[in-house]
Amino acid sequence: MVDMIADYYEALPDQPRVSPDVQPGFLRGAVPPRAPEQPESFDAVMADVRDKLMPGVVHWQSPSFFAYFPSNYSFPAALADMWSSVLGMVGFSWAAGPVSTELEMAMMDWMADLCGLPQAFKCNGGGGPGGGVIQGTTSEAVVVALLAARARSLAGRPPADKLKLVAYSSDQAHSCFKKACMIVGIDHVRLLPASPQHDWALQPQALQAAIEADVAAGLIPCFVMATIGTTSSCAVDPVAQLAAAAAGSGAWFHVDAAYAGSAALLPEQRHHFCGLEAVDSYSFNPHKWLLTNFDCCCLWVADSAPLKEALSLTPVFLRAAGNSLDYKDWQIPLGRRFRSLKLYFLLRMYGAEFIRAYLRHHIALAAAFAQRVDADPRFELAAPQRFGLVCFRLRDVPREVNAALLAQLNAGGRLFLIHTELAGAYTLRLAVGSASTQLQHVTAAWEAVAAAADVVLEAHAETGQGKEGAKAVAGSAA
Ligand SMILES: *Cc1c(COP(=O)(O)O)cnc(C)c1O
Repeated sequence: MVDMIADYYEALPDQPRVSPDVQPGFLRGAVPPRAPEQPESFDAVMADVRDKLMPGVVHWQSPSFFAYFPSNYSFPAALADMWSSVLGMVGFSWAAGPVSTELEMAMMDWMADLCGLPQAFKCNGGGGPGGGVIQGTTSEAVVVALLAARARSLAGRPPADKLKLVAYSSDQAHSCFKKACMIVGIDHVRLLPASPQHDWALQPQALQAAIEADVAAGLIPCFVMATIGTTSSCAVDPVAQLAAAAAGSGAWFHVDAAYAGSAALLPEQRHHFCGLEAVDSYSFNPHKWLLTNFDCCCLWVADSAPLKEALSLTPVFLRAAGNSLDYKDWQIPLGRRFRSLKLYFLLRMYGAEFIRAYLRHHIALAAAFAQRVDADPRFELAAPQRFGLVCFRLRDVPREVNAALLAQLNAGGRLFLIHTELAGAYTLRLAVGSASTQLQHVTAAWEAVAAAADVVLEAHAETGQGKEGAKAVAGSAA
């Protein structure tokens, strides 16, 4: 299997399709309807992987994968995952996994220093008050932060006040913000408009006005979430000013830097990360851009007391003496994987210098693509290029023409992009971030975009400038 994996990885650039040409239900009938009673040979299972499963794989590690945000992989982190799987240790408490608890604290401190985060986020050997914890995903980290926020807001208040709690973010925030509010039961959710005039960054005045209106109406500001690197366009909310606007309201302030947080390793990108000294919690996903195969989300808090207040519950069989830190009190599930090992292997085997060069390389590739877009008068950049993301579209055409452009690009399967909506406009997104992406792949992507533009613009011109014509183009390309 190791040989198969090595062959797969080597052949990734030559995969005929990055995203497969399959329909829902494609696997039904291909796998047996019931689990076998008797063991089957390893070779038979591997043959199924090759013949039945691989055709349904989206090749996220392909150098021509430009969709979503990357979720890249590395050899060191994959090796660490093997140890983690084989040890099968479930380190919910210090006693259940002393090494996983201690290594996690050490790795969260290493990572905090590499990213230039405030000292208040350091684990201090479990002595508090702050510290870091590895969650599975940002979605979980936001739920956890919101639970801590709710516990802190409700301290000393009647329980009925939980109906008055308000959470704030921008309309560019990831959907996990709204989902966290649904899960935690926050009834008042404010998605404040962020505008193109400010590059889709939330403005402090908007936050302040919303908070004041809610306080005047007798509601209780509970949670503010800012984003560094929004999913649509990599907008950066002004954290320091937003924190100042929320100061005094009593609301917990969380910063979601799921994708862009990796860029904090680069001193020249640190200006995007100003103001973290003033926030309660901060999270980012090494499992996106930082070579740590899924899943790994780093969450730091300046004060862990509200978190533990919200999440501690110790049944008798889990009681143990002399615990320094029990990570079960910092997360939703009881059980947890030994994920810090991935960061340890990665940082030991590659070193920070290599990882910084690697991140810079991706940012330079995105800049190269943005330059090509900018130099072609048919196109416009829909947002400033930030980190590894480029948002672009054909200018002065109906939205159907841009939809046709994306359909035309993805139809061949040689590369994979997705779109977003910015101020109601259909916008294509190219996210650089696979470990093997090089200039040649980005150049080829631009050439594919330019060629697809020839096709859809010609069809658009032929069928007239009207909406109907453009719809026909979108239909035929899809
Ligand atoms: C990807 C992303 C998320 C969701 O991350 P998960 O780890 O999959 O939950 C949240 N916020 C931002 C800004 C993202 O880019």
